[in-house]
Amino acid sequence: MTGYRLNFRLVLAGLLWCALVGLSLAWNIYQANEKRQELALETARSFFEQIVITRRWNARHGGVYVPVTPETQPNPYLKDPQRDLRISDDLTLTLVNPAFMTRQLAEIAQQSRGVQFHITSLKPLRPENQPTDWETEALRQFEQGLAEKGEIVGERSYRYMAPLITEKACLRCHEEQGYREGDVRGGVSVTLPRVAAIPLAALTFSHLAIGLSGLLVIVIMGQMLSGYHRQLREQAMVDSLTGVRNRRFFNEQFQQTWRSGRRQQIPLAVILCDIDHFKDYNDAFGHPAGDQCLRQVAQALQAKLRRGGDFCARYGGEEFVLVLPNTGLPGIRDFAEELRQAVIDLNIRHPNSPTGGVTISLGGAVAEDAYPESEVLVQQADQALYLAKQQGRNRSEIYDNLRERRLAAGTGKSGL
Ligand code: GH3
Ligand code: MG
Ligand code: MG
Repeated sequence: MTGYRLNFRLVLAGLLWCALVGLSLAWNIYQANEKRQELALETARSFFEQIVITRRWNARHGGVYVPVTPETQPNPYLKDPQRDLRISDDLTLTLVNPAFMTRQLAEIAQQSRGVQFHITSLKPLRPENQPTDWETEALRQFEQGLAEKGEIVGERSYRYMAPLITEKACLRCHEEQGYREGDVRGGVSVTLPRVAAIPLAALTFSHLAIGLSGLLVIVIMGQMLSGYHRQLREQAMVDSLTGVRNRRFFNEQFQQTWRSGRRQQIPLAVILCDIDHFKDYNDAFGHPAGDQCLRQVAQALQAKLRRGGDFCARYGGEEFVLVLPNTGLPGIRDFAEELRQAVIDLNIRHPNSPTGGVTISLGGAVAEDAYPESEVLVQQADQALYLAKQQGRNRSEIYDNLRERRLAAGTGKSGL
């Protein structure tokens, strides 16, 4: 998996997490709203039922006599001939019917708890009992069979309404309006001033905390993962024996270097190195010693690299490749000689070598104005290396160099 794909997946995981937390927040707000509506409905319903019970009690007594006071004046809409009973000079009783009683209860409720009742009807006896638009619509719906109606209004208040059903006791006053038992005679609306608020701040804060913690975990895990990933990639690109880059790294990196060199039209040098008589070295000292020799040579070559874009990789067995962007002729010639000398300077004893020590042969090629394909460039370096071997080993040849020599000799036969 590339680093890009890993990052993409982490971003995706982060987005999914945010979406999940967002969904949870929306669901919790929805639930909290449902709950407060349920609570408000229950509260309003209780108020309404309390009124209905009280009214029923009153109606069953055919109204209740109470003393006339400045607050309780005789009801002008009550046509009962026995509406007022004068008991003494100081005391006159007046008949309070359910509707009048409801209004008085409504006043007390509003004063003490801010709860509003409104007794209303599509055919009100008193003009003050005219329904509002919302009440009119509800009353019509009740006539169609709706049992009750409630909704949040504005930020915090809740209005509720349920029908008043004509009972036998109601007919005493309302029969003349044409009502029969069981008819919807009107309704009482109950307005609660303050219902429970949705705990928006608490919900948002807790979700924000959960969301951010989750994101933090994703980021930390992501960093750890991409660290391991980078480490693994690095390890996958290093030759475990010699510690320099491996062939896989060369295959990937050389293509990139070659493409960018061609785009920018900067020279690119490739040098192939091969340890001379290495089979004999193994034969003389054994494979473990051969491995140690390989490590030393690889490190000596690598130590010669000076610029950031340069790299050295193990090309195969006892062969190494060096890639040097921005190096042309004659830079490559000098550099190849430096490399050869660096290996000689290691002073590794080799009994079957003409010099008595481990040496390397080198073949180089440079892409300059005419940019050969990457594989061709490596082939050219390989051909130069082949010639270096042919010419006695422990030497360096550069592809262009050879061509010049061939042209000078006028042979053109070597195939290089
Ligand atoms: P030349 O001068 O023509 O290059 O001769 P050479 O003996 O170096 O070349 P040849 O191709 O005949 O032998 C290469 C040897 O490198 C054979 C192989 O055992 C040895 N070799 C390749 N990889 C390793 C390795 O990882 N460790 C060890 N110790 N030896 C290796
Ligand atoms: Mg070889
Ligand atoms: Mg060799």
